[in-house]
Amino acid sequence: MVEEKLVKELEEYAKKEKVPIIQKESLNYLNNYIEVKNVKSVLEIGTAIGYSAICMALSNPNLKITTIERDEKRYLEAVKNIKKFKLENRIKLIFKDALEVSLEEKFDLIFIDAAKAQNINFFTHFEKNLNKNGTIITDNIFFHGFTYMNLEDIESRNVRAIARKIRKYIEFLEQNENYETEIKKIGDGISVTRRKDGYEDR
Ligand code: SAH
Ligand code: MG
Repeated sequence: MVEEKLVKELEEYAKKEKVPIIQKESLNYLNNYIEVKNVKSVLEIGTAIGYSAICMALSNPNLKITTIERDEKRYLEAVKNIKKFKLENRIKLIFKDALEVSLEEKFDLIFIDAAKAQNINFFTHFEKNLNKNGTIITDNIFFHGFTYMNLEDIESRNVRAIARKIRKYIEFLEQNENYETEIKKIGDGISVTRRKDGYEDR
């Protein structure tokens, strides 16, 4: 398939340019989730070059995605890639810091995959945009294993700070009365957070 070749090209570009795209296993989980739960709309925080958005759109022919990226170079690359796949009608790209974006519409799934230290802020900023039966999935909860490491053993201050922030996010999710969260050992770790007051058993 032509598309497969183009997807390979994105993966190669990501490798070469060190763009942290989603792992295959996590992508498969997302796509399966979208299909099984009949997800129609996704809000993605962190487009990078459009890889995860494009792969979700290809695997789910009716899915609509809104995705936000603040880095200009990556945004421009994503624009180009989405055109290549002719997905302009189903993927809407926003070039802005996500925390400065305010949206009215609601989504079935919010996929948080941006600055790892900001997860709580992304969550609280966009939870009003989640449908009643909606789910928030966050990538890189394990942060290459640093999240659960002894913090004193992490040499880099920056990495240590992020690991601490991700722990805080996990605590925030687990203590949140309105949501139920599962942490899954998939890829680099993902959290799956569902509203407790959803009217369907999802
Ligand atoms: N979802 C992509 C990978 C995203 S990498 C994929 O799997 O293909 C994370 C991206 O989030 C980076 O490109 C970074 O520039 C972007 N980002 C980080 N913080 C952001 C913010 N506050 N608003 C918008 N984008 C952000
Ligand atoms: Mg990620």
